[in-house]
Amino acid sequence: MLQLFIPLGALGIIYRQFKYTLADMDLVFKLLSRTPEIEDKDSATDLNVEQGQIRFDQVHFGYQDDREILKGISFEVPAGQTVAVVGHSGAGKSTLARLLFRFYDVNQGQVLIDGNDVREVKQNSLRRGIGIVPQDTVLFNDTIRYNIQYGKLDATDQEVREAASMAQIEDFIESLPEGWDTKVGERGLKLSGGEKQRVAIARAILKRPAILVFDEATSSLDSTTEQAIQRTLKEISATTTTLVVAHRLSTIVDADQILVMSQGTIIERGSHSELMQANGEYRRMWDLQLESD
Ligand code: ATP
Repeated sequence: MLQLFIPLGALGIIYRQFKYTLADMDLVFKLLSRTPEIEDKDSATDLNVEQGQIRFDQVHFGYQDDREILKGISFEVPAGQTVAVVGHSGAGKSTLARLLFRFYDVNQGQVLIDGNDVREVKQNSLRRGIGIVPQDTVLFNDTIRYNIQYGKLDATDQEVREAASMAQIEDFIESLPEGWDTKVGERGLKLSGGEKQRVAIARAILKRPAILVFDEATSSLDSTTEQAIQRTLKEISATTTTLVVAHRLSTIVDADQILVMSQGTIIERGSHSELMQANGEYRRMWDLQLESD
């Protein structure tokens, strides 16, 4: 009996890992459109993200050889600061995040974290060091508690609760008939876009990465949810290096630096007030957005 029991137990662990590895892959495919196989170099070392400084140095990249998407991008996110990227659809904003995670390799130039070229480190360690709040969060068919705990599998209930509270989703969870044990995902309770994003934020809070990538949802959230999310992110980003891929300009006015992208290049950069004064593309986008609100 014991003999039968042990392998089954082990199988359970393997299944759980397999299940979540698949879910991870799904996440990657769905949110970051990963396709090619990137392999660790034999000499790859573990990256231990300490300061969390990001640097893109003269980066050229195309998904296909005949079409360059990023045409010589250079910028830096100093440790602890927030940089937001804006620009029209297709400008290459999300591609920057994909290169930071090394889902693709650059054609020329370098992507560096704390001075380490991402091609020289183990991918697992790279992705462990970066938290992401994606546009569309994948939920596992499991409890809402597990879905948050996923950010740190050994987190205590207390830590999970605190993260949910910071992400402003605790009250919602406690209002559900089955509370923390409510099943969510495809076969459970469907969460709204804003609720899912708050689950992702809670995961990121638990993970406490030195670097956070926030890929803002294109679909707009109601303004109360939006403001709640913004407040939470502001809190997190105060101590974390944050790269925001922004679709709504109103959410990034406080960023230390805003990069305006167009057709694979950075055409303007500066703080919100500097860019407004410059009276260029950012100002034009801002005026257009005000008109459409
Ligand atoms: P949006 O605001 O719509 O999210 P974006 O600025 O984030 O746009 P990217 O997703 O970075 O834009 O895409 C930049 C360009 O790269 C687009 O022209 C897009 O069609 C192309 N592209 C994106 N992903 C792939 C892919 N996996 N294979 C080929 N081309 C891609």
